[in-house]
Amino acid sequence: MDRTIVITGGGAGIGRATALHFHGLGWRVAVLDVDRDALEEMSDILPAERCLTVACDVGRESQVKRAFARISGWLGDMPLTCLVNNAGIADPYCGPLEKLELDDWQRWIDASMTAAFLCTREALPLLRRAEGACVVNISSTRSLMSEPETFAYAAAKGGLDALTHALAVSLGPAVRVNSILPGWIETGSWQKAAERREPRQSAADRQQHPAGRVGRPEDVAGAIEWLVGAGFVTGQRIVVDGGMTVRMIYVE
Ligand code: NAD
Repeated sequence: MDRTIVITGGGAGIGRATALHFHGLGWRVAVLDVDRDALEEMSDILPAERCLTVACDVGRESQVKRAFARISGWLGDMPLTCLVNNAGIADPYCGPLEKLELDDWQRWIDASMTAAFLCTREALPLLRRAEGACVVNISSTRSLMSEPETFAYAAAKGGLDALTHALAVSLGPAVRVNSILPGWIETGSWQKAAERREPRQSAADRQQHPAGRVGRPEDVAGAIEWLVGAGFVTGQRIVVDGGMTVRMIYVE
């Protein structure tokens, strides 16, 4: 039986690398993204018989319902093995609290937390057909610690982690649900052609990671693959940050 995966925000960055990773493993891959140019590039790269691209703002209920109706038609009788709720606004900075408008706050919450609720709800009948189905939510180490003026991003990711354990205890044993908390992941070379950029990192950037380097989207894709096979792991937060959040910092 073919294995199948849906990846939100799969047109760029971590989602794009994950789509290519699982496609390379022989899976059927459905990519949802709001960026049509990025989707077009993905459908040029991946052969049509094992790839579906769907334009969708995953924070909007009607669009998510339409997207999963298409995915269901594409899968036919096949189950969905894995849903990756990866879409999100990657830039965490929202400015001073006094100037943060409700609409802007809502954009971060919708793209991450609300989207994970909507996509998991619509994917559930397809996931329940599979043996050992799982959901992976892409959170952030910013759900554990903060820089100034990142309120909405941090709250969205903290909420996503709480949604993860609530879903895990509600949907098990049929569906396992886990969060991955990436640290600093360099996505410059995984953007669509018009926005691709060469990564530039200093020695200090590398040294603040006990692993000796900044993260790559492939590191997250590998952790997702591990979670797919980790049948006794559910409701967990898996930190993929090269050790950055466990390193003690002294101010001189
Ligand atoms: P990215 O900007 O490179 O890619 C994100 C993709 O999601 C884009 O293609 C974008 O069009 C899409 N997207 C955004 N909002 C959407 C929406 N509402 N509906 C559908 N698609 C949408 O970002 P990335 O760095 O690859 O981040 C992916 C995820 O990983 C995000 O949830 C981000 O918060 C998380 N994350 C990233 C890092 C990092 O350092 N890159 C660190 C921690 C967590």
